[in-house]
Amino acid sequence: MRLIRTINRMSACINHIRQNGKSIGFVPTMGYLHEGHLSLMRQAKEENDILVLSIFVNPAQFGPMEDYKRYPKDLNRDIRLAKDSGCDMVFIPDAKEMYPGGYSTYVKVERLSDILCGKTRPIHFRGVATVVTKLFNIIRPDRAYFGTKDYQQAIIIKRMIEDLNMDIKLKILPIVREKDGLAMSSRNIYLSQEERSDAIILYKALRFAKRLIEGGQRDPGVIISAIRKLISHKNRARMDYVSVVDADTLNDIRIIKRRILIAIAVWIGKTRLIDNIVVKC
Ligand code: AMP
Repeated sequence: MRLIRTINRMSACINHIRQNGKSIGFVPTMGYLHEGHLSLMRQAKEENDILVLSIFVNPAQFGPMEDYKRYPKDLNRDIRLAKDSGCDMVFIPDAKEMYPGGYSTYVKVERLSDILCGKTRPIHFRGVATVVTKLFNIIRPDRAYFGTKDYQQAIIIKRMIEDLNMDIKLKILPIVREKDGLAMSSRNIYLSQEERSDAIILYKALRFAKRLIEGGQRDPGVIISAIRKLISHKNRARMDYVSVVDADTLNDIRIIKRRILIAIAVWIGKTRLIDNIVVKC
């Protein structure tokens, strides 16, 4: 497994792979790997000749008050896990390599970037779309793997690939959860023991909402109120947002039908967690 820190070196390796006619599967991450990341890597390994992982905590997607500086890191462990998952190359650029002095170009997917998480994190998805575009241009993958843990992100990347005619197949994989239902996330490490046990409420609330819909409830307002009420019972939890939207367009809906997404963001103490569930009816 090769560790590559510069764009020049990465491009040279990719040229070589392409000349040999091999397919490239790409998994972009911010590191501090967990089973969610590994599930993407395993699938990518299965479907491609070469698996490239990137580990880059992207400053462009963090707001000034967010956790960029303290985002969890354990590169040695990540490298070990990447190796065990059959990774061929790990791209680990630093911020200066990706955004050298004078950097001025950004990619923004309109509308989709300003709703749901985009309301609380106004520059977030512009940063995501920009870095993913850059990584796609550097790695030139055949297939790129993303998790539904970040559902809105996956929809934005899908839109961007279509809109900008990128020749990349997008693969979107299910959320990997802890045994008690908490969606795996690098940020879970921030939680104290008490917060960790309160954090289960996110998935519990989503499951409860799903049961309401399966029981015939079709009013998004009722679903939203039910989730808000459950979350409010936990002292350490504070709702950021809860939305019930069309699962494909992320448009607001007046009545629940076909495939809908329930997306939530909840502060547990100082940690903002997101989760979601798709319900078909
Ligand atoms: P991150 O390192 O948090 O930026 O995540 C990198 C990729 O892993 C993104 O496509 C995420 O959606 C995906 N991912 C993160 N957590 C999970 C999870 N629990 N299950 C599945 N995919 C995940």
